[in-house]
Amino acid sequence: MAIASQDYEVHALTIDYGSKHSRELESASKLAEHFKAASHRTIKIDLGIIGGSSLTDEKIILDTGKKLEEIGKEIPSSYVPARNMTFLSLAMGLVEVVGAEKIFIGANAVDYSGYPDCRPEFFEAFQKTAELGTKAGVEGKPVIIESPLLRLTKAQIISKGMELKVPYELTWTCYSGGDKACGKCEACLLRLEGFREVGINDPIRYKD
Ligand SMILES: [Zn+2]
Repeated sequence: MAIASQDYEVHALTIDYGSKHSRELESASKLAEHFKAASHRTIKIDLGIIGGSSLTDEKIILDTGKKLEEIGKEIPSSYVPARNMTFLSLAMGLVEVVGAEKIFIGANAVDYSGYPDCRPEFFEAFQKTAELGTKAGVEGKPVIIESPLLRLTKAQIISKGMELKVPYELTWTCYSGGDKACGKCEACLLRLEGFREVGINDPIRYKD
């Protein structure tokens, strides 16, 4: 399993897509700095103009009342229409400019398979698209899409991060806005469960 920070010079890309939980942008910058990325760009797009997601649309309320076992049964309101497709397309553009070999994306399908754009089939299909739709692809050097966390459980992700000395205090997962994590949204529940399974404390601050 290849991990971006181990064997590669990393050009970090953050997409500020107009989410309500923009606190994650601050974390992205701190992490890019911590891991000494060769460059870090933030692209601003407003997916709120399309709406249709509790993460971007003021009219749609984020679900914070679910139990852990209910997560993954259906596509949740936090699904952002075509988000990973949009992110990968933007990353593909950056790859062509900096001459990168790979795109690393942190999608995860195992604990939670409710997002259609977090499935292995989606990434395989996008790989084909990249081969056909980019200069690098046509010239026979298509960029490889790596999703190293795709088949890991949340607990395995936490363990892998411990091994790689990820400063978890700088990370952000919560979908609710605010300076402290809510501890109740799906993202928080899965994160907390991962830490619980591994048996270590989550160093970020929670509301309760
Ligand atoms: Zn939360």
